[in-house]
Amino acid sequence: MPESTEGKTNEHVNFYCLGGGNEVGRSCHIVEYKGKVVMLDAGVHPAYSGIESLPFYDDFDLSRVDVLLISHFHLDHAASLPYVMQHTNFKGRVFMTYPTKAIYKWLLNDFVRVTTITDDSNGMDENSNAFLYTDEDLNSSLDRIERLDYHSTIEVDGIRFTAFPAGHVLGAAMFLVEMGGLKFLFTGDYSREEDRHLSSAEVPDVTPDLLIVESTFGTATHVPRLERENKLTTVIHSTLQQGGRCLLPVFALGRAQEILLILDEYWQRHKDLQNVPIYYASSLAKKCMAVYERYINMMNDSIRKKFTETNENPFHFKYIKNVAHADRIDDLNPCVMIASPGMLQNGVSRQLLEKWCPDPRNTVIMTGYSVDGTMAKKLLTEPDQIPALNNPDVSIPRRMNVEEVSFAAHVDYEQNSEFIDLVHAKKIVLVHGESNPMGRLKSALLSRYQKFKDTEDEVKVYNPRDGSKLDLEFKGIKIAKVMGQLATSLPEDHDTVSGILVQKNFDLNLLKVDDLREFTGLTATVVRERQVLRCNVKRSLLYWQFTQMFGYVKILIDDPNEYSFEVMDVVRITLEESEALATIEWHSGIVDDTVADSAIAIIISCDSIPASVKKSSHQHSHAHIKEVHSDAVKQEKHDVLIKEEDQTAEVNKFNSSVKKESTDLDSVLSDDYSPDIRLKHISMLLHAQFGDLFVTLPNNEGGTITIGKHKATIDYKNFNVDCKSNVLRGRIEGILRRSLDLVAPLSHE
Ligand SMILES: [Zn+2]
Repeated sequence: MPESTEGKTNEHVNFYCLGGGNEVGRSCHIVEYKGKVVMLDAGVHPAYSGIESLPFYDDFDLSRVDVLLISHFHLDHAASLPYVMQHTNFKGRVFMTYPTKAIYKWLLNDFVRVTTITDDSNGMDENSNAFLYTDEDLNSSLDRIERLDYHSTIEVDGIRFTAFPAGHVLGAAMFLVEMGGLKFLFTGDYSREEDRHLSSAEVPDVTPDLLIVESTFGTATHVPRLERENKLTTVIHSTLQQGGRCLLPVFALGRAQEILLILDEYWQRHKDLQNVPIYYASSLAKKCMAVYERYINMMNDSIRKKFTETNENPFHFKYIKNVAHADRIDDLNPCVMIASPGMLQNGVSRQLLEKWCPDPRNTVIMTGYSVDGTMAKKLLTEPDQIPALNNPDVSIPRRMNVEEVSFAAHVDYEQNSEFIDLVHAKKIVLVHGESNPMGRLKSALLSRYQKFKDTEDEVKVYNPRDGSKLDLEFKGIKIAKVMGQLATSLPEDHDTVSGILVQKNFDLNLLKVDDLREFTGLTATVVRERQVLRCNVKRSLLYWQFTQMFGYVKILIDDPNEYSFEVMDVVRITLEESEALATIEWHSGIVDDTVADSAIAIIISCDSIPASVKKSSHQHSHAHIKEVHSDAVKQEKHDVLIKEEDQTAEVNKFNSSVKKESTDLDSVLSDDYSPDIRLKHISMLLHAQFGDLFVTLPNNEGGTITIGKHKATIDYKNFNVDCKSNVLRGRIEGILRRSLDLVAPLSHE
């Protein structure tokens, strides 16, 4: 059994709001983390048409999307999907639940048809981009849509996601997504109230880092369900009694089924109404009935019970007549008409509204959420007249009653805040709400979590606008699975285990080298490095110089024929005094290479120190070496051993097994051990320690070392180190002190 081991780090995740930011409509969000991209929903805005109704797709390179998850079939969440799949560079995988896909297909067929008719009659020309896609586009994209069940988890390239019931409409899902230690929950539209056919949304048993939650109703409180049902049936009943007609504009499917269940039951109980027809004007009604029957297992207990007890489809209504077109009905007498679209922008519901609105006996009842900018929203202000759709110059008087009884299955403040409490995320992004309710919800949540401000549990709430990007920080927990031999011999308590960390996508596995091939197909190669340098110094001096630089060195062999020691447990140095050669050996690796570089630099520079050679050869006591060293200053110029070109050679120019010809002590005379050369040595030592982080200033004035946000400047005039970080300054001063010791003999007076 693999075990897990964890570590905490600060991580950043990007959230892009392409739609549904401070608005209800064209939902589309992108979560990007460590190069993986998840897109959530691809809707259209019901108040606009054509290209204008799309989310801001130009704001993100859709070719980078790995996975697109569609929460439910409503047009403001799904209707631009064929456009994304057929007319952009999107090449990711698309997922939705089984019922969502089944209904989506019919709905979008209808959407293509309705927008085409409307835009035709609007007299729009072809260049207006009124048509986002054709039936053909829709059909060819269908095959590429994959389906998933509630509670099933799918993994795509290290992105794991699970669908949970969201209430709202048949098949609506929340998605819990995990990638590389980041967990986020996207609610989509959701409801926390059991209604006639759907269960309430579930709370996943996981604490995500980030919650993306709808805010449609902001801080509003729903009227209790029973009261709403009573109001609906009362308004309808009294309208019919006074000889009027009722229009209920609804979205073709979903909430319509809930209204139908309420009315069918009410008619059952009221004999006086049974000869009054209820029309459900939807070309999709018949087709979707099958879907509602097939997925009865995804609905709540009461509807399942009804189904199993009576063996009848609860959606085969007794008092409701399905009609495909509004013009086929007799609307001279009282009747109830349930017709789409819900926003009254076009189609059957709009035709009937225009026809019925001058008669004060009639009533229009808004049962859904009315989006800003649509006729549905405008009607709620009870205008005296409305513009005719086919001729905006013509106004139609509005005398019919306007009522609003909401059956929109979105959470109210109490339900939403309770859910948010339970989810317990520290970063909350509000979407799917008009500016005001969304802003009010943000304030309410902030004051709800005020007590956590400036603590570890501080809750941040965001209400991004369309086109904006959020950079969110969270505490990432890295979990690595311990596999193979390591897992069988884990320490009892919480001791550390060490091994080789192998990453595939976001999965981290910790293994022993021996298990590499079996578990990862990788092989391990150890690169042993070896360099031989000329080194004409005695062992005592070499030892002293290394202890000056590294503090401690471990003597391995100290006999007359061989002298070798180890630096920082990784680099082994062997000195052959008779040959004047030093061999440096280490395993190739970032850290070990750096230590080896320093060792090479020391050997090169100590070889170039004129005095060291002669004097130190007499010394065996470490305590006396310092004296020897200062004596060296007095040595004459011709004691210099190293050629000019060797002095300026950079450490990394030495190849392995370089043997330099022995330099004849008397034949090679350097002109001078100038301060310049001395400074070059210091630069070389600093470079060996800090690599490319060390940069020399022009004219040998000094150098800079930049590590992270800290920058240190070294002035070669006085060897002062200017640095805000005491730690870094201390480290550099220590190295400088030792370097100066090493090159001190070079200063000539
Ligand atoms: Zn919805």
